[in-house]
Amino acid sequence: MDSSKMTAETPLSPHADGLHIGNSLTREKERFVPINAPYVGMYVCGPTVYSNVHLGNVRTFLTFDVVYRYLLHLGYKVRYVRNITDVGHLTGDTDDGEDKIGKKARLENLEPMEVVQRYTNDFHDVMRVFHILPPSIEPTATGHIVEQIGMISDIIDNGFAYESNGSVYFDVRKFADDHDYGALSGRRIDELQNQTRALEGQNEKRDPLDFALWKKADSSHLMQWPSPWSEGFPGWHLECSVMSTKYLGKTFDIHGGGMDLKFPHHECEIAQNIGAHGGDRPVRYWLHGNMLTVNGRKMSKSEGNGFTPEELITGNHKLLEKGYSPMTVRFFMLQGHYAGTLDFSNPALQAAEKGLERLMSAWGTLNTLQPVEGPEACPDLDALKNRAYAAMNDDFNTPVLIAVLYDAVKAINSMASGRMSVTAEGIALLQALFADFAHDILGLEPEMPEGGGHDRTDGLMEVLCAVRAEAKANKDWATADLIRDRLVELGVQIKDGKDGTSWTFD
Ligand code: AMP
Ligand code: ZN
Repeated sequence: MDSSKMTAETPLSPHADGLHIGNSLTREKERFVPINAPYVGMYVCGPTVYSNVHLGNVRTFLTFDVVYRYLLHLGYKVRYVRNITDVGHLTGDTDDGEDKIGKKARLENLEPMEVVQRYTNDFHDVMRVFHILPPSIEPTATGHIVEQIGMISDIIDNGFAYESNGSVYFDVRKFADDHDYGALSGRRIDELQNQTRALEGQNEKRDPLDFALWKKADSSHLMQWPSPWSEGFPGWHLECSVMSTKYLGKTFDIHGGGMDLKFPHHECEIAQNIGAHGGDRPVRYWLHGNMLTVNGRKMSKSEGNGFTPEELITGNHKLLEKGYSPMTVRFFMLQGHYAGTLDFSNPALQAAEKGLERLMSAWGTLNTLQPVEGPEACPDLDALKNRAYAAMNDDFNTPVLIAVLYDAVKAINSMASGRMSVTAEGIALLQALFADFAHDILGLEPEMPEGGGHDRTDGLMEVLCAVRAEAKANKDWATADLIRDRLVELGVQIKDGKDGTSWTFD
């Protein structure tokens, strides 16, 4: 599925009316009313490209992938902007420390843009592996230095920022006189005052609460640009204000990111937008994806509990009992609602693996199903579809949607065994349910074995199973057992079921 399939004639689904979004700004579930339907503008904070993406990052981008997919499915014409942070994000995550990319470049003796390219490539590879759709625009911070300087000038002109020793800081107290600084994160300015540590550059600030819009660079700084104030670089929060408003307008529909970005990053973005452009609510709906944790702790590079997708797939990490496929991980993550934390564990991944197998296998069965008359009546399949929409309309509730799909799986299996009736129309409805909700919206696809497709291994296994079935039919138990035992020795488990023989690899 991609947005290019949507044409001007694609009508908005009648279900679009029912979509409700958990808005972190108002802390309410609100009906989604775009500013200029059927167009929707959505901005999501992208990665800082100084290291390999870990699975926690994947969760956040997956959350917004499903939001994007569902909006497209409803017929909205979405402009989805997800940036690449390639300058300005400092190791202290505030105004102190070294630039994360500059530091990596210094340590590895690389050009900063080499670091950026390497990890941007990695990020794109990972997104592809997990079926996360590319955004409509993927702007970079370094590509928007001119616009960032322009926005700083506007904020200074409006009286919300000041220059100090070649750097420019946002005047938080001045802003807070007339605006609700802290509205998004729920932090109160007095509490913040007490928590603020004495940091580098603090003596340049009028108040420790102020944050940098532009920082003067010393000569050791690898990335720097000329500006009216100094040779320097932009503050981290600024790029997102600049790039979201440049591509989506001064007021736009949805802004997303991980929960950990609410403060200071998003709070500062709001202040900058209002400081530059006026208004009072530059973003209508704020969405925050919750964290992926390991044993209750946020997965992160610095904690040492953040494994890369490659480690996950190969199983080559101390936290992993075995490797898991990208679709299993995608399914595992979708089994939790995005607003709640999700704890990584091997048993949970193994349960997801089985659950996904059940879903995929029923989906396969569905495509071979013929209309049947059974003793049990077919359930109301329209109701199933309506429940699927109701789940997604309730703040993108993917776990409830998955429960609806499992109900469809139960029905399909009963139909296949002849216990339940189904008409040709019913089969078509189920097929549409899987195509829309499992494939297009949840982004689940049958996985190909290594090497791709229904490969030679599958073919060989089918031949072996056919020979074994023939042997059993001839009551040649010795041959049948010999095949099974030799396969077990090779790490292949075979299982005889009513629909034939299936196999799994250890
Ligand atoms: P970064 O590259 O650190 O700026 O992070 C990129 C995105 O991943 C941000 O939206 C973060 O909020 C998000 N993120 C980082 N760690 C996690 C985690 N453990 N779980 C979910 N999202 C995360
Ligand atoms: Zn951002």
